[in-house]
Amino acid sequence: MNILIQDAKNHVGQEVTIRGWMYNKRGSGKIWFLELRDGSGFMQGVVAPPAASPDVMQAAEKLVMESSVKVTGKVAAHPKFKDVYEMQVNGIEIVHVCEEEYPISKKEHGPDFLLNNRHLWLRSRKQWAIQRVRDVVIQAVYDFFHKNGFIKIDTPILTPNACEGATTLFEIEYFDEGTVYLSQSGQLYLEAAIMSVGRAFDFGPTFRAEKSKTKRHLTEFWMMDAEAAFVEHEESMEIQESMICAIVERVLRDCLPELTILERNLEPFKKIKTPFTRLTYTEAIEKLHSLGSDIKFGEDLGNDDEGLLTQDSDVPVFVHKWPKAIKPFYMKTDPTNPELVCNDDLIATEGGGEIIGGSQREDSYEKLKAAVEKEGLKGTEYQWYLDLRKYGSVPHSGFGLGLERVVRWLTQAEHIRETIPFPRLMERVRP
Ligand code: ATP
Ligand code: MN
Repeated sequence: MNILIQDAKNHVGQEVTIRGWMYNKRGSGKIWFLELRDGSGFMQGVVAPPAASPDVMQAAEKLVMESSVKVTGKVAAHPKFKDVYEMQVNGIEIVHVCEEEYPISKKEHGPDFLLNNRHLWLRSRKQWAIQRVRDVVIQAVYDFFHKNGFIKIDTPILTPNACEGATTLFEIEYFDEGTVYLSQSGQLYLEAAIMSVGRAFDFGPTFRAEKSKTKRHLTEFWMMDAEAAFVEHEESMEIQESMICAIVERVLRDCLPELTILERNLEPFKKIKTPFTRLTYTEAIEKLHSLGSDIKFGEDLGNDDEGLLTQDSDVPVFVHKWPKAIKPFYMKTDPTNPELVCNDDLIATEGGGEIIGGSQREDSYEKLKAAVEKEGLKGTEYQWYLDLRKYGSVPHSGFGLGLERVVRWLTQAEHIRETIPFPRLMERVRP
């Protein structure tokens, strides 16, 4: 019977076949220990007589690292380790023996070498674990939204207008229509959709021609945008923190083997509970000054500032109500201070940096129209967006979560490039 390694616990004492790859081998001609992986997990196969015939011993000898195989044998609980199973092998069917030596060995490799071999590097244990966590984060996000009345609305990737500032747009020539851009966020379209469905989210590739060479910026990343009608600033932050907690709980529930491989300290994780810390931008600047930062009021927070703001907090920190001057045109002006907007950035603990950016959106036709004009945006491209404020306008808010930022935070990956299968960075589009 073919099984997945993840189900081995249900087959102790039975003879089963697993289909996968041999990623390591120890032993001599008398006994071989095959380290097997099949994508669902890892298992050791012990190849020794009498269970293994001379033919099977020979097949084991022939296998080199990363050869593909079907291995048959009896499943046994590991004598020492809990929840670990091994196989007493009595059959090996070789599917493919590597034609050349596998380029990624156990010795240390530099990042460039690994990125050039990303198609193979993905097989490494840590990379495997990170992709599994990524998948669980995606599931947690879908489940959270569906439980809370949001539906998924797919927004377009080819767009004629900018959302987050024209300097980071990728341009494309579009037939006779002129230049269009790869989407920086589906937000504007979601705002239209919620006037139909009330609450919506999208989750897809997002493009920013960022010239920033940091450990937190990709040029192509996956963003989840959410938008909700009748939700104002405070309630939006409550939704955001509940979503983050739902993600953390899910990863703690489903990813313990992966987190173990990643040597992730679980203690800080377990402390992530609502309510998250809330600091206004003004309070944040004061706090930073008291901690020795020379940031000026009106500047964006740098990496070091974000670190200082979260260093004494067990939970992520909202920095909200930023100066209008440095934020996009669509954010709603703070009713208590016309210089500020009702927005929030959520900064993760443990060096995670900004993982969410959100705001209440301007719902007054006149104010939004003035903002579009002031920004020098082409009015005609935004008329449909302005229309939303003409017909049954409602207060509404939304936010965008960067999937790779969250995965980097949860896995404590050194660089964001490890959190996406095939990273696109300023200087890398291959493989
Ligand atoms: P930053 O200041 O860190 O560049 P931003 O203010 O440009 O971020 P938003 O426009 O608010 O980010 O986008 C929403 C979310 O998308 C961010 O909170 C972040 O999680 C993610 N994000 C933004 N830009 C990138 C990028 N270049 N690579 C990966 N994730 C990103
Ligand atoms: Mn940015």
